[in-house]
Amino acid sequence: MVRFANVRKSYGSLTVLDHLNLDIDMGEMVTIIGPSGSGKTTVLRMLMTLETINGGVIYVDGEPLTHMEKNGVLVPANAAHIRRIRSKIGMCFQHFNLFPHMTALQNCMEGPVQVLGMSKKEAQERSLELLDMVGMADKAGQYPSRLSGGQQQRVAIARALAMRPKVMLFDEVTSALDPEVIGEVTNVIRKLVDAHSLTMLMVTHQMGFARDISDRVCFFHSGAIAEQGSPVELFGAPKNERTQQFLNAVL
Ligand code: ATP
Repeated sequence: MVRFANVRKSYGSLTVLDHLNLDIDMGEMVTIIGPSGSGKTTVLRMLMTLETINGGVIYVDGEPLTHMEKNGVLVPANAAHIRRIRSKIGMCFQHFNLFPHMTALQNCMEGPVQVLGMSKKEAQERSLELLDMVGMADKAGQYPSRLSGGQQQRVAIARALAMRPKVMLFDEVTSALDPEVIGEVTNVIRKLVDAHSLTMLMVTHQMGFARDISDRVCFFHSGAIAEQGSPVELFGAPKNERTQQFLNAVL
């Protein structure tokens, strides 16, 4: 469903990702862990086309994200192609990024109505269903400023899902939350994982959560995947010395 093929990313002379190869299957939940600055968030930002790449190709649902095929050769894609592929991906950020002047329901309806051209009635029905799924139906009429961090993050997840993505990205979605509300958000993500219809890529500093819900965990170090495996393999018996050092420091 998502494939990074020899992807390179640098900022000036700083190489952040060096020939990254990563394949994520449909319905798979992959978690990226690693030290600060190892390029975890950059991976998600490249998928959202918030960052350009310096080499290689990213494929989403079988098609190149920022390239298109012309006479058997890959050429830079036009804006319409990028928009179409990009619309298959939803993302939740550390700082929720809800529209402050809109209620929870309006936040969820905005994209489907404005971007997908859905009728207001259908968008409202779907948004209410999703708000219900994240346990926020009773707060549908509230503005973000009246909601706790955990509640805002749950609305942000419902808003991203309202766009019917095939792939969901979660970037440290619990990092800005108070410890007592982290469980609310992790439970919602766990529910999504159990539903098993979405492909998910998550960056987190919460090792326990990564261990609980991931099909596969990738440990990033110095711009590459130093080790990857099932949570049991990676947390239980890490082979790479860097992974061992990192886990010893954070667990
Ligand atoms: P953290 O766990 O601290 O969030 P990370 O593993 O997600 O870190 P990234 O945010 O992907 O790391 O950043 C990787 C490297 O790229 C870091 O050294 C960072 O300073 C650098 N970097 C990120 N964005 C930019 C930018 N816009 N300009 C220059 N350097 C950047």
